[in-house]
Amino acid sequence: MVTSEQETLYAISCKKAAAALKKNNFEIVEVNDEKEALDALLKRLPRDSSIGYGGSKTLEEIGFFEHVTEETHPHLFNRRNPNLSPEEKQTLQKRALVADVFVCSANAVSLQGDLVFIDKWGNRNAAMTYGPGNRIVVVGANKISEDLGTAIDRARNSAAVLNNIRFDTKNPCTKQGTCVDCDSSDRLCSIVTIIQRCQLPGSITVILCREPLGF
Ligand code: SF4
Repeated sequence: MVTSEQETLYAISCKKAAAALKKNNFEIVEVNDEKEALDALLKRLPRDSSIGYGGSKTLEEIGFFEHVTEETHPHLFNRRNPNLSPEEKQTLQKRALVADVFVCSANAVSLQGDLVFIDKWGNRNAAMTYGPGNRIVVVGANKISEDLGTAIDRARNSAAVLNNIRFDTKNPCTKQGTCVDCDSSDRLCSIVTIIQRCQLPGSITVILCREPLGF
């Protein structure tokens, strides 16, 4: 449960992060809760657009996967079908790199307007840096960090560890509760991307939610 004091802090940090992200050429939409986040996202996903996405607890929480399906969006590159082979999933991930829109969350946002992403394979990193011309990132206030250093620390020592627990990996962080920069062949976090400026102004939209979303 979020206390009213925490709500106030979230609102303040969202305002600061939004100003910094705008200065760095990101398009910003500030919303109050997960319903508004979903509405803001759906408004930006025309039915006839091709859509790729990055795996995301945040997208799960706002209901993206229930509201954006092959029925609502026939050109969705949907790799969640359990009948897909690993090769078919990989093909869809590659096609997502040239979709009209790519949707994901970030692992952290700094108060200076940096976005931080940490991935195993780098499909999200690739899409966000040189992929679709229109990218949309949904981020909860819990991911806002004081500066770039703490944002990277958050991505590695909080988001990555929780993702390991979520996917029930056998990596050491699931026992130790913190990243030990492991050599595991199943390491979930091998590629870190920092976007410090949206080079083509407005091509990345950040939907910034004043409530916590994902981890
Ligand atoms: S590098 Fe290894 S220990 Fe660190 S978070 Fe990733 S999987 Fe866990």
